[in-house]
Amino acid sequence: MEYEAVIGLEIHAQLLTKSKIFCACSAAFGGRANDDTCPVCLGLPGALPVLNRAVVEMATLAALALNLRINETSIFARKNYFYPDLPKGYQISQYDQPFSEHGWVEIPTSERDEQGRPIEWRKKRFRIRRLHIEEDAGKSLHEGQDPYSYVNLNRSGVPLLEIVSEPDFRSSWQAYDYVQYLRKTLQYIGVCDGNMEEGSLRCDANVSVRPKGETKFGTKTEIKNVNSFRFLQKAIEYEIARQIEILSEGGQIIQETRLWNERESRTYSMRSKEEAHDYRYFPEPDLPPLKVNQEWIAAIRSQLPELPEARRERFQKQYDLSMEESMLLTQTRSMADYYERVVQACGNAKQSANWILSELLRELKNASVDVANCPVKAEDLGRLIQLINTDTISGKIGKEVFIKMFETGKPPDVLIEELGLQQISDVTKLQQIIDAVIEANPKQLSSYKAGKTNLFGFFVGQVMKATQGRANPQLVNNLLKERLG
Ligand SMILES: [Zn+2]
Repeated sequence: MEYEAVIGLEIHAQLLTKSKIFCACSAAFGGRANDDTCPVCLGLPGALPVLNRAVVEMATLAALALNLRINETSIFARKNYFYPDLPKGYQISQYDQPFSEHGWVEIPTSERDEQGRPIEWRKKRFRIRRLHIEEDAGKSLHEGQDPYSYVNLNRSGVPLLEIVSEPDFRSSWQAYDYVQYLRKTLQYIGVCDGNMEEGSLRCDANVSVRPKGETKFGTKTEIKNVNSFRFLQKAIEYEIARQIEILSEGGQIIQETRLWNERESRTYSMRSKEEAHDYRYFPEPDLPPLKVNQEWIAAIRSQLPELPEARRERFQKQYDLSMEESMLLTQTRSMADYYERVVQACGNAKQSANWILSELLRELKNASVDVANCPVKAEDLGRLIQLINTDTISGKIGKEVFIKMFETGKPPDVLIEELGLQQISDVTKLQQIIDAVIEANPKQLSSYKAGKTNLFGFFVGQVMKATQGRANPQLVNNLLKERLG
């Protein structure tokens, strides 16, 4: 029997606000444990939450970027459960009246071959069920030698967006491409740094399988707390195979939560799900309903930048790039901005793409530097391309100059001057060099005259050598042809 996978994704994105969602404590990552806390985020009795306006702005931006419908009234709700990292006993979230609903993204997605290379990009629409606002819990620490566990409540009250998809994914790579795209979008609009390792983006996946053609859903398992895109993809892939194997042997899937173990490359059971969690949701008595009106939404909409997929599509058409090139060049907003500035400076979109995707990316990677902090200004890279196109320097020397630009941050004209690298296009000067080369190689000259015309390349090589590669190659060719007859 043929099976198909049904995958839904839940993403928690930490917002880049300065302060927490309901108090003035810092929301920054990495402070000393429990320094960034107060009666509100500790949930002490009598302390009252006040909603941070910046959270609503960022949620609005995100909802609009993901095509969600924003509800003019949404309700905060208490989600009641006790856990060591949640000593106040409830999390303020949203439940039956969330901030926004019914969104979608339409993005390129592709299966991958065995080496992980995309096979064929195709656009597909994935629906988003809802996006709501909530607060984060604290963090339990189980490190060190002693037998105790500790709790750090700096993270409690940090604002989160929970973004829940519809179960629209049929393969692990679709899920992978979607999560990547969501991260990219949140970074483009500046609401989340997307750092999975530090936990500012967390992803849970619901996975089930069913016979192909079946419309009912199978029993699902939930994969929790995967901290990289690749692990998420591998965990889903593993889980699909595990479930298919059980079903083909006549077994049954148990609804449970499973964790990914990267070392063993498998998921394992964390806990079986109790019969439908009862969180006893009720409207948060300390917060009024959240109301946003159409003017607010319109004002925020006007702040939306060009979104990643729109920009990628525009790049592909306007600059005549391939799908791969346009994807790489719009990977981050700073990369896309950099590319467009290089194009503007040199007027050649294809060459700009080639330089960035080969030379620049290699240097950035070697130096572990992000393009936003690139030592080579985009205008300078554009100028370098121009200098090559106008034969001031050869392409080969251009690459050497580029490496020096990356090391020193100096503009190409300055470096070419300093290093004396200008291309030699002076006819008289080149003729003198050619004369000297011919004089120094009488044997080759007579062989050439006797018909060994393939020695022509030898003479070109000698001239280039004598000029440290700076002679204008086209000119050398012409002059040598004249001289040798
Ligand atoms: Zn606080």
